[in-house]
This record gives sequence, structure tokens and C-alpha cells, in this order.
Amino acid sequence: MLVKNSKFVISAVSPKQYPEGDLLEIAFAGRSNVGKSSLINALVNRKDLAYSGSRQGMTRMINFYNINDEIHFVDLPGYGFAMRAKSELDLWGKVIEQYLNVRDRLYLMIMLVDIRHKPSKDDVNMYNWILASGLEYIVVATKTDKVSKMQAKENIKIIKKELGMPECIPVYPVSAEKKTGIKELWTAIDNVITEEE
Ligand code: GDP
Repeated sequence: MLVKNSKFVISAVSPKQYPEGDLLEIAFAGRSNVGKSSLINALVNRKDLAYSGSRQGMTRMINFYNINDEIHFVDLPGYGFAMRAKSELDLWGKVIEQYLNVRDRLYLMIMLVDIRHKPSKDDVNMYNWILASGLEYIVVATKTDKVSKMQAKENIKIIKKELGMPECIPVYPVSAEKKTGIKELWTAIDNVITEEE
């Protein structure tokens, strides 16, 4: 998709706040700090649509972005190491689960993992949830500029193994910093959109 315009719609906690209308939605999920905001910005070719470096309070919310008046990008709260307290975990779980359970116009999940790290237990849970949901999904390995090409290949193998992904399903390597892999990721997204139409 050629992104001609992209705009922030709303930060929501409860389903009542989700945007109205019937735009299909693509949700982005991953651990805090995985590079989710940076990837969204790279996909829409802007520096500042999604807030990088998680502003206070915004991190527990679901951020909706309107892309070309055609689709919504849905930035789900990051999970993982920032959630020290059980109450935080509960809130995150509630916010994200509610969205995933009630939103029937969600049709593609983009799950992000850091190319440098073995997937965490939360990543494995997220992946299993996606599988069980039957949604279309794309797994993306972020920050590839931080490793060599050879290391990237090796780490993608490990990521697939740890998540339990079938060999034939690709993991898309991207660097938001160097803007590599972005075109390929858009092609993969477009393919899912075309199938849906
Ligand atoms: P989020 O918490 O998942 O939204 O992650 P951010 O997009 O805010 O990124 C977290 C940190 O990783 C920031 O310091 C970014 O500058 C950095 N980062 C994100 N993407 C990349 C990348 O492709 N390459 C490198 N080297 N750093 C990145």
C-alpha cells in the first residue's frame, strides 16, 4: 500500500472508545521496547505518528491510526519486562484481551520479536493465542541492523524453533533504523489485504 496519509485516531482502554466505522484492522503486538512504534513509523514513512519511547500512561492504551482512510493500524500495549506488578499484568491482559476478543474487524496480527533475543514466554503465549484465534498473522524480527546477516539468519531459525513455527512460514526481518525489509513487509501485508477483499 502506498501510504498517502496517516493520522492518529484515539488512545483507547475500553471497547466503548474504539473508533466507529468499518475499517479493517491490522494489530501490532510485541514486548515493550521491541521497536513497535519505530516499525509503525517506518511503515507509514513518518517519524512521529507512533510515540517511540512510550510516554507515561500511553503504554497501557491501544492506539488507533487511520491509514489512507482504508485501514486502521492498531498499536497494542507492549508486554513483558515493564510489567513488574501483577496488577499491571492484569490490566495489560484485560485491555489487550478485550480488544482481541471483541473486535471482529481485526484480520491481521503482526507480531514483533527482537532479532537479538530468544522469544520470551510472553511471546510464545502471544503466538499460541494467534494460532488459536485462526487470524492471519505475520511474524517480524526487528532491529536487524544490530546483527550481521549471518547472525540474523541463525537467529531467525532460533525464533521459529522457540515459537514452534512451521518451517514454511517466513519471519520478516526489518530494520526501522535503516529502513530495510519495510517494502517486503508491505508486500506481505498487501497480500493479506488482497485475499481479504
Ligand atoms: P516500542 O516500545 O516497541 O514501541 O519500541 P520503540 O519503537 O520505542 O523502540 C525502542 C528502542 O529501540 C528505541 O530506542 C528505538 O530507537 C530502538 N529501535 C527501534 N527500532 C530499531 C531498529 O530498527 N534498529 C535499531 N538499532 N534500534 C531500533
